[in-house]
Amino acid sequence: MLTLIINCGSSSVKLALFERDRSEPVATAMVDRVATDAIEGSYRIGDGPRQALSCPAYGDHAAALDAALSGLRSEPALHDLRVSAVGHRIVHGGQKFSAPALVDPEVLAEIRALAPLAPVHAIPNALGIEAATRLFPGVPQVAVFDTAFHQSIAPEVYRYAIPDDLYERFQIRRYGFHGTSHAYVAEEAARRLGLDFKNCRLISAHLGNGCSATAVLNGESVDTSMGLTPLEGLVMGTRSGNVDPNLHNFLAQQAGLSLDEITDLLNRKSGLTGLSGISNDLRVLTDEYHAGNKSAKLAVDVFCFRLARELAGLTVALGGMPDALIFTGGIGENSCLVRGLTLSHLSAFNFELDPERNKTAGADTNGIISSGSGPTAIVVPTNEEFAIAHATAALCPF
Ligand code: AMP
Repeated sequence: MLTLIINCGSSSVKLALFERDRSEPVATAMVDRVATDAIEGSYRIGDGPRQALSCPAYGDHAAALDAALSGLRSEPALHDLRVSAVGHRIVHGGQKFSAPALVDPEVLAEIRALAPLAPVHAIPNALGIEAATRLFPGVPQVAVFDTAFHQSIAPEVYRYAIPDDLYERFQIRRYGFHGTSHAYVAEEAARRLGLDFKNCRLISAHLGNGCSATAVLNGESVDTSMGLTPLEGLVMGTRSGNVDPNLHNFLAQQAGLSLDEITDLLNRKSGLTGLSGISNDLRVLTDEYHAGNKSAKLAVDVFCFRLARELAGLTVALGGMPDALIFTGGIGENSCLVRGLTLSHLSAFNFELDPERNKTAGADTNGIISSGSGPTAIVVPTNEEFAIAHATAALCPF
């Protein structure tokens, strides 16, 4: 019996199948460019080769899910695929959900009702639940929310200084995202370092295409860098992170851009892409950086400085120096350049970065890349799908 994890994004569907308590998936599948004529997908059994999926042109999320499951079932090992629970990655849980929830009609309606807060993701997330309900009748489904871990944050941290009635009418506040990842790597770091998760101070930096950092005090999120939407906070692959709140008005007046154009500019054309004019991919920028490309250097330098400033700010909610700083996500796990430059700005923390350990992401030291008696810097690979599978299984005892 397997747990199926479904991640329905705006234009993609990703699946992962887990055996109970195994952290590596039995199989994964993904379909991209859903609902277009360029729809395409692939699946993979364990760490075997990727196989192409046959996906119908203009197929919607349900058709993509169907195509992915048919591909998986075409494999002899998964011929009579039996799923005992389905876990869904849900981007926004608003103020309603502070923990994973067993899906029932009321929970599904709540997810749909959160569409104003997650215009790109809430409806695909709900479509994924509806499709899975049809495909697996009677099988329990669990919604695991990206925002839930941050619901422990205090009002003085999550409120914006705007008129109170806007909060009351529209729930405009900071929510934070990447919660499943932050919770997973924080607990894993505590385990690796022999710390009591319920009695320690941690900061985690999830640095992928989207980037956020979170302060975790005694097992709970107490501050995080993302806000009402995942645009706030750190510099990211294509997102600007924090800018002057007057920028929309300035660009509208000076550059004649519409609201939609500015929103697109800040979400898709900014960040590392915008600063470098080259790429959002740090692998490309790292090569250019070492080759002496000034724009690549500027992009990486801004990324790391802003990250360091945010990490330092998170110590306020922690009430002191962290026991450990965790790097995770595609950049956090793989870029010794970003880790090194960021820590070089944090001399007040007394991290003693070990350059050799940093180069190998602590391959021989359980991820630890510092040495000495100061706080620990550690690389912990995230595994959001497994964390969702784990949370799902916890609500579906069988
Ligand atoms: P994620 O969203 O967590 O999958 O992270 C994706 C990003 O990680 C990519 O856009 C790259 O910028 C970055 N990345 C992945 N592998 C490497 C690497 N070996 N070195 C530097 N950056 C990497």
